[in-house]
Amino acid sequence: MREPNCLSRVHRLMDVTVELHCDKCGSANLSLPVDGDEQATIECNDCGERHGTLAELRSELLACAMEHSAQALRSGLDRLP
Ligand SMILES: [Zn+2]
Repeated sequence: MREPNCLSRVHRLMDVTVELHCDKCGSANLSLPVDGDEQATIECNDCGERHGTLAELRSELLACAMEHSAQALRSGLDRLP
């Protein structure tokens, strides 16, 4: 079973190494806000691509997780008689 792309990002984010990869160049060399500043922008150190703020990333991942839960619930309901 293939997972939605955003979920693989969730897994990467929750991985102990917390590896995010640049969508543009694939580099894992991203600058994350060190003090957890929600409005700080995440940027790629290699190509300079911006990846939004920490708050945006967080809400994107949360929305994805909730969508996935809803899908799992629906497919579970479909199996009921
Ligand atoms: Zn990059």
